[in-house]
Amino acid sequence: MRHEDDRLRPITDEEHLDRIARLPKVELHLHFEGGAPPAFIRGLAKEKKVDIAKVFNRDGSYAYRDFWHFLEVYEAATSVLKTPEDYARLCTAVLEESARNGVVYSETFLSPDFCGGGDVGAWREYLLAIREAAERAERSHGITLRGIVTCIRHFGPDKARRAALCAAETAGDWLVGFGMAGDEKKGKQKDFAWSFDLAREAGLRLTSHAGEWNGPQEVRDAVEDLGVERIGHGVRAAPDLATVDMLAEREITLEVCPGSNVFLGVYPTLKDHPIDRLRDRGVRVTVSTDDPPFFHTTMRQEYLGLAKTFGWDEEVFADINRTALDAAFCDAATREAVKKRLETA
Ligand SMILES: [Zn+2]
Repeated sequence: MRHEDDRLRPITDEEHLDRIARLPKVELHLHFEGGAPPAFIRGLAKEKKVDIAKVFNRDGSYAYRDFWHFLEVYEAATSVLKTPEDYARLCTAVLEESARNGVVYSETFLSPDFCGGGDVGAWREYLLAIREAAERAERSHGITLRGIVTCIRHFGPDKARRAALCAAETAGDWLVGFGMAGDEKKGKQKDFAWSFDLAREAGLRLTSHAGEWNGPQEVRDAVEDLGVERIGHGVRAAPDLATVDMLAEREITLEVCPGSNVFLGVYPTLKDHPIDRLRDRGVRVTVSTDDPPFFHTTMRQEYLGLAKTFGWDEEVFADINRTALDAAFCDAATREAVKKRLETA
């Protein structure tokens, strides 16, 4: 553990920062619809003659007041995404943006609730269209994508069961995980145990959003009641060292999204964010964007912020990417291929 006086010094040199921004990156926490560039959504709305002008600011970015309003705007913006073809186009737009930011491997959260209303047959069609678009992007942009089905917590356990059934039916080399997103203030982790058990039995790896809004107990619940190996966010475990040490001991990986946390006011500034302290204490932390255009961030910006605030250099980011790739839900052959790309970049 480092002492306060041997913290890394913030990086200010522009050339050094530029090298850091250009590093190859592994991202584990990206909501598929949440990655939709606003221009893409606006274009789609226009084609479909749907008026969603109210979800945009004057400058064309997404507009909302807080997390709960964000959920509303998110649903309104993504309501124009209807068909498998829409999702294939979304996939192309999202991966082009990720590749531009140096991402070489990404896992994205997909919800059968939005893709076919929880119907397995319909879900298969969406999945096929997304997967084909992802394979095209892999050939043209050198970015690998894998999918994680997420149930939506505030939709309740019944809908989660349908999402889990869709996930179990399509589990394989591309659809590799199951998780939960949505409003942490609704229900308990254990209400969704049936769905997580089903997904585990189908061979899917598990993650759940916890400790973004609720405290350490929520993070413990996700680990103990659902048996997840990764946590979406988890940062609010930080004040409770017993929980932090549990995460380190059990080698739970946190999918940390610093820009998202600051934008939504979980922490006032990046300086107040616990990512550096958690890493220091031995927790496996990784870096992701969550819903990048909604939070006015990119993977490049995340890296730059961490370098400028905590002095994270190439060595730290190489370690972060090793941790992320190690915690990725893909098969061994994919992991090996991505590892080579990280090493040669
Ligand atoms: Zn998230």
